[in-house]
Amino acid sequence: MELEGKVSLVTGASRGMGRAIALKLSSLGSKVAINYVGIEADNKSDADSVVEAIIRQGGEAMPVEADVRDGNAVKTMVQQVTDKWGKIDILVNNAGITRDNLLLRMSDEAWDDVIDTNLRGAYLCTKFALRSMIRQQWGRIINIASIAGLIGNAGQTNYAASKGGLIAFTKSVAREVSSRNITANAVAPGFIKTKMTEKLPEEIKKSILSMTLLQRFGEPEEVAELVAFLASDRASYITGQVITIDGGVST
Ligand code: NAP
Repeated sequence: MELEGKVSLVTGASRGMGRAIALKLSSLGSKVAINYVGIEADNKSDADSVVEAIIRQGGEAMPVEADVRDGNAVKTMVQQVTDKWGKIDILVNNAGITRDNLLLRMSDEAWDDVIDTNLRGAYLCTKFALRSMIRQQWGRIINIASIAGLIGNAGQTNYAASKGGLIAFTKSVAREVSSRNITANAVAPGFIKTKMTEKLPEEIKKSILSMTLLQRFGEPEEVAELVAFLASDRASYITGQVITIDGGVST
């Protein structure tokens, strides 16, 4: 229970990687706020089911609704968590979307949606959660980037730019807050089995698999292990880094 007494906020935690990360942090003793967007009724029930799963395994969790693109909503969300549990120790900026298209066919809306969710969202959540971390002189910021942000990807100029930006953001935050005993790191997954990747065409999946040294796709729980490590005191001397978890694709 190495995260006993800690409070975590995981964005986009109603499903996929966010869900696995929330469950893992909770299994190590952290209280976890489960962020979801309240646009569809399904999202609320998905978030509730993560909360219930955590409570079933003996942990503490609360659902917190907020669109990470909306500054006022993010401010209120952070306030809700600090009102209930007094602080935020660990922030995982996981919420993310794709709107893939070749650059010449990309709509301005698809560009803006992806940058706003993946980059502006992380900026807003970090800005508001940071105050508590500075006050307690301890904090962990973990940003879920992507190998697309390191090596690029055809059809994903918007997504790759958002994740490359997130990596640069992480390194800059790490430099700003290092004197307060706060670390900021990015995790860059390759292909992980979630709803985001399930919609990809079979030939794309085949091509990614052929480039993957370990010859299989990753599981959300494998990313959650890395996030939990970065959140723990075992990673106390790691900051400003981007750690790839991709089965060897980018080797
Ligand atoms: P996912 O299953 O599609 O989950 C994405 C989560 O983000 C959902 O819970 C979603 O909520 C939430 N979200 C989207 N827009 C939001 C907003 N405006 N405010 C708050 N939450 C929002 O995808 P995933 O694969 O688990 O992705 C998690 C993260 O890993 C993303 O940042 C993604 O870019 C990154 N990543 C994924 C892969 C992969 O292969 N899967 C690889 C590299 C990086 P809703 O349910 O409301 O949509």
